[in-house]
Amino acid sequence: MHSEEFDVLIIGGGHNGLVSAAYLAKAGFKVALFEKRNIVGGAAITEELWKGYRISRLSYAYSLFDPQISRDLELERYGLRVVSTDPDLFVPFPDGKHIFIWGDAKKTSQEFEKFSHRDARRYENYLQFWKDVAAILSPLMLSPPPKFADFASFFESSEALDALKVLTFSSVSEVLDEYFESDYVKAAICPRGLIGTLVGPKTPGSAYILAHHVIGGSSGETGIWGYLKGGMGALSEAIAQSARNFGARIMTGKAVRKIIVKDGKATGIELEDGERVYAKYVVSNADPKQTFLKLVGKECLDQKFVKSVEKIKDEGCVLKLNAALQELPKYSALTTEVGRVGLEHRGITSIGPSVEYCERAFDDAKYGRPSSHPFLRVVYHSANDPDLAPSGKHTMSVFAQYFPYNLREGSWDEIREEVGDNVIDTLSEYAPNLKNAVINREVLTPLDLEREFLLPRGNIFHMEMTPDQMFFFRPVPRWTQYRTPIRGLYLCGSGTHPGGGVTGANGYNAARAVIEDAGLASDQT
Ligand SMILES: Cc1cc2nc3c(=O)[nH]c(=O)nc-3n(C[C@H](O)[C@H](O)[C@H](O)COP(=O)(O)OP(=O)(O)OC[C@H]3O[C@@H](n4cnc5c(N)ncnc54)[C@H](O)[C@@H]3O)c2cc1C
Repeated sequence: MHSEEFDVLIIGGGHNGLVSAAYLAKAGFKVALFEKRNIVGGAAITEELWKGYRISRLSYAYSLFDPQISRDLELERYGLRVVSTDPDLFVPFPDGKHIFIWGDAKKTSQEFEKFSHRDARRYENYLQFWKDVAAILSPLMLSPPPKFADFASFFESSEALDALKVLTFSSVSEVLDEYFESDYVKAAICPRGLIGTLVGPKTPGSAYILAHHVIGGSSGETGIWGYLKGGMGALSEAIAQSARNFGARIMTGKAVRKIIVKDGKATGIELEDGERVYAKYVVSNADPKQTFLKLVGKECLDQKFVKSVEKIKDEGCVLKLNAALQELPKYSALTTEVGRVGLEHRGITSIGPSVEYCERAFDDAKYGRPSSHPFLRVVYHSANDPDLAPSGKHTMSVFAQYFPYNLREGSWDEIREEVGDNVIDTLSEYAPNLKNAVINREVLTPLDLEREFLLPRGNIFHMEMTPDQMFFFRPVPRWTQYRTPIRGLYLCGSGTHPGGGVTGANGYNAARAVIEDAGLASDQT
């Protein structure tokens, strides 16, 4: 490789690294991207784990990706197809009752009517609250975070100020209590506010996580999630194709072991095999801790900055179980015959029958234990996209919480399969045929997420998404604009604003920072 060929080197081919590559190549830079794994996508991938079964191994649902990026990069042209699902959510309960959440608020209200007349009426107010929050937060996604002093100006009306109070200090449980009285209704909504984060529903600040997960609208409607034809990897493949089309070189199987720094400036990278490549700009899709503490090295950095990076909270708490199924689960709550695809298989199935159940699941993790009764979010992608599995067979993706990276006793290698059995048993309580329907499975613990996918301590968002690590605090105070204390080095991954999730926003904003520093006009992009 002749390093003088490149202007920008990108470390990591997660979807954000790919978005940066595409925009920078589009702006005229000569871009090379280096991905450690043999495929691009990071946490947004589809892999054939067993013959004929193509699995979204990590992220599983599509909603947060910014539609402007899709348009700019012409992702439809490269095969991106969104499958929106209705119902969005199916929530079975141990007593045989169930709730569907639909794209149409009126239909959902009718569901809530089974449990509380008041909640049915209040649902629209609840949705309106989040629509108002989305109206404030969404425009902040595709731009660097505002400065602390300017942030308040986005929340000037008294309603907006109330919303800010909720986002920064309230718990999921408090938000639910404000709008709803039925424990069933609260249970249906609660887990969305806990995703990927080591907090319980009663933890102050957890309401922000709920906000982050309800403001997405890339599948058409605010808060409604969808899937991609071909799985989550289809997005990464489409972005990669777009980047290549603009001239970017994308290389897989290339781990970066060092960022070369000279006189406080990044001048290139060193690959695992010792090869060195030089360029004017280096953009890292790796998490902040890996980028600064390992790839740059503490010795090149101010010690105060090093301390603030070391203090980043990033303990992971998610376990992912992927499986090949002989048949879809038959939920006791419904009458769908075995072998048929029912409405309950179309959207996400949420197992977590009460707010208290979720809080107790969190209690286990607080003390270093895997939840004995985890909450689950389950998706059968093949029910919407039969090409993902052999004819008549199905895929299953289970996102389970809480499974702390740091175990008080034992190791993840010792308890991986036992914990996997517990996840299957938990779901089987609602769908007894499931246990024998599993043909193959893989269990990805937080340790596996770190080892195979370089997610720090298994954190699915590179670092926690609590209010103390968002906006002008992400990744660390004072270095929130994608630039770093090393000149010419930028961050573009989930450890930057606006945080984790398949949004593409971090990659977009980082590319803009490079373009701006290079003195290129914005209309050239
Ligand atoms: C189990 C799980 C479920 C999730 N579910 C959803 C969901 O349903 N919907 C949603 O929107 N979000 C979901 N998320 C979150 C979302 O997937 C991530 O926040 C997002 O994909 C991160 O993208 P990224 O590009 O910033 O980083 P990553 O996807 O982590 O990509 C970073 C890339 O850099 C590479 N890399 C790191 N270090 C090096 C190095 N030294 N050399 C070379 N390459 C390197 C890695 O291999 C990786 O490919 C989920 C995440 C996980 C893990």
